[in-house]
Amino acid sequence: MQNRSLSGKTALVTGSTSGIGLGIAHALAAQGAHIVLNGFGDAAVIDQMQKDIAQQHGVRTIYSGADMSKATEIEHMMREAATQMGGIDILVNNAGIQHVANVEDFPVERWDAVIAINLSSAFHTSRLALPYMKKNNWGRIINIASVHGLVGSAGKSAYVAAKHGIIGLTKVTALENAQTGITCNAICPGWVLTPLVQKQVDARAHDKSLSQEAAKHELLIEKQPSAEFVTPEQLGELAVFLCSSAASQVRGAAWNMDGGWAAQ
Ligand code: NAD
Repeated sequence: MQNRSLSGKTALVTGSTSGIGLGIAHALAAQGAHIVLNGFGDAAVIDQMQKDIAQQHGVRTIYSGADMSKATEIEHMMREAATQMGGIDILVNNAGIQHVANVEDFPVERWDAVIAINLSSAFHTSRLALPYMKKNNWGRIINIASVHGLVGSAGKSAYVAAKHGIIGLTKVTALENAQTGITCNAICPGWVLTPLVQKQVDARAHDKSLSQEAAKHELLIEKQPSAEFVTPEQLGELAVFLCSSAASQVRGAAWNMDGGWAAQ
């Protein structure tokens, strides 16, 4: 386990108890980064996730159950990370939710929640992580946006607005730190089969009386030319690359991994 590219670094991955965040946490830990896990879920399951990451990759892990819609809980999480791990070198803003409804039917409370979790949380974690990164003149901020940060889809006003917003935040954070060792970039995945997308598959299967396989294929073929899901493991490897020295001049990018979705 020696000579791993991120040995001695600490990475916080928000929303890492599931899906893409968990995949990224494993990929960073495989390169030697200690991990701060965050997200919701069953306590025993999360405890096991923490143990799996620590044992498989020989790194330290801590867990924060902070709610990313609440600035005070984010502040508490960042203080805990500083106390227990020394500080955050790699920040992956990944926590996110979805809600599908047309603008005139969109519940106001859901709008506020999507903007808070998918966009404002990244502002709060970034503003709190940057002073430590500046002290070391090294840092990586990776914002998990979406292909919906680049193009729109009907029914997803809050999500598309938040994801376009986080790409804006990415550019400004990158520019403000352009002459430092701190980079900030966004990753823009297309469809990834996680619980967030499974809900949309289930809704389609139910509404159109389709099998799971048919609903998945229909969902993919509508937008994603490869007709294959992107995987959390592939996204994890892209995050590892963005943390590498080879990527030190990748700044303010919105890097899509979307099976060709945004190329259309
Ligand atoms: P997921 O539902 O599998 O995981 C979401 C994670 O966020 C979970 O760990 C959950 O507990 C956590 N979370 C939700 N609300 C939270 C809150 N208030 N505070 C703290 N944690 C919270 O979803 P996923 O598909 O892995 O999505 C992860 C990110 O990737 C999201 O930002 C999503 O928008 C983005 N994304 C997903 C896809 C896709 O196809 N799945 C595509 C593009 C972008």
